[in-house]
Amino acid sequence: MSKKHFTSKALHADRLGKPEHGVLHKPVHNSIAFGYEDARELADIFQGKKSGYAYGRQSNPTVEALASKITGLESGLATVMFSTGMAAIGSTFISLLRQGDHVVSSTFLFGNTNSLFQTLQNLGIDVTFVDATQVSNVEKALKPNTRAVFVETIANPVTQVADLEAIGSLCSARNLVYIVDNTMTSPWLFQPVSAGASLIINSLSKYIGGHGNALGGAVTETGNFDWSTYPHIYENYKGPDPRLWGLVQIRKKGLRDFGASLAPESAHHLSVGSDTLELRITRACHNAQAIAEFCQAHPKVAKVFYPGLSSHPQFDRAATLFRLPGAIMSIELAEGVDCFDFLNKLELVVTSSNLGDNRTLGIPVAHTIYWEMGPERRASMGVADSLVRLSIGIEDTEDLLADFNQALA
Ligand SMILES: *Cc1c(COP(=O)(O)O)cnc(C)c1O
Repeated sequence: MSKKHFTSKALHADRLGKPEHGVLHKPVHNSIAFGYEDARELADIFQGKKSGYAYGRQSNPTVEALASKITGLESGLATVMFSTGMAAIGSTFISLLRQGDHVVSSTFLFGNTNSLFQTLQNLGIDVTFVDATQVSNVEKALKPNTRAVFVETIANPVTQVADLEAIGSLCSARNLVYIVDNTMTSPWLFQPVSAGASLIINSLSKYIGGHGNALGGAVTETGNFDWSTYPHIYENYKGPDPRLWGLVQIRKKGLRDFGASLAPESAHHLSVGSDTLELRITRACHNAQAIAEFCQAHPKVAKVFYPGLSSHPQFDRAATLFRLPGAIMSIELAEGVDCFDFLNKLELVVTSSNLGDNRTLGIPVAHTIYWEMGPERRASMGVADSLVRLSIGIEDTEDLLADFNQALA
């Protein structure tokens, strides 16, 4: 099955292994406890000598089926699942870093990840924010105690594209853990393993689930990093394959100890959604290109940020790295055009804080999701007061264009 193409793999993932009764979907197993006839078997599972289920907080057959599916789609080695994307990011940092460590992060970040880094700084973990569209900025920020580099593929809301491959080479040369948040691109548009990522984060709540009906997060190990060189792995987690040491520690110290476990019902929704990831995101990207071109030509729009426009600073990079330029864009309205009036006039586009939904969503960024960080940090991230972020969905292109046309008229 690993040789099959993307959507074939997604559709048939649940039939691998031993499907109960020949079912095509992994059933929703709601049991949180698992019984064993041989007490030694449970002991072996606890000691990591045998794979199996001990308690629902750490793993569950429905959740593990989705984990295998994500691993396949990311061409990774293994995946640990979480209740949300933020739980995946938070658990990764908390389980791998210690007081006195240093992390270099892109300054262009999802708002809650930015907030999480503040918490880490208060726990004695040093974070340097850099413009990661140029690898030289990352390199200059490295210190002897730097353990990890964190970037997003396409940053929200202004759509900067990180220097993903060059940062991967730098991390490999300096033996640093390279963590890539692939939420905006999803494994269909981009596979971070190809750019040297060590760990891949996906919020499943966005494109992978796609329908806005379940939260979830995932951390995928790529096998690119040699964890036997990492100083903070607990002895107990040093199993026979050192490529998995980091992920085992994330499962134990992150998922198990914090307990942000993915619910089996949610795993089912996310898995059904992921069957059509390629079809949905491809259509959303084509719609996004059409809307971006329409807005760029419109006098009431001052700026359009979309990696599929040749005016975008990383247009060439996005074209080389990604299958399509994504479906997130932001527009700055011309002077005198009120962003609230514009959003209120849109009929098809929903004002909503989510993104990666099948429906097109829009939000006034500075007044909502980036409000808490204050004007200075907003300015450093290129977030103007009139900025509207759009997450383009899979509606019919003509209807979306007509809606933008009437709202701007
Ligand atoms: C939404 C998002 C997250 C967080 O995911 P949740 O599932 O909402 O917790 C993390 N990173 C990026 C880039 C996101 O867009």
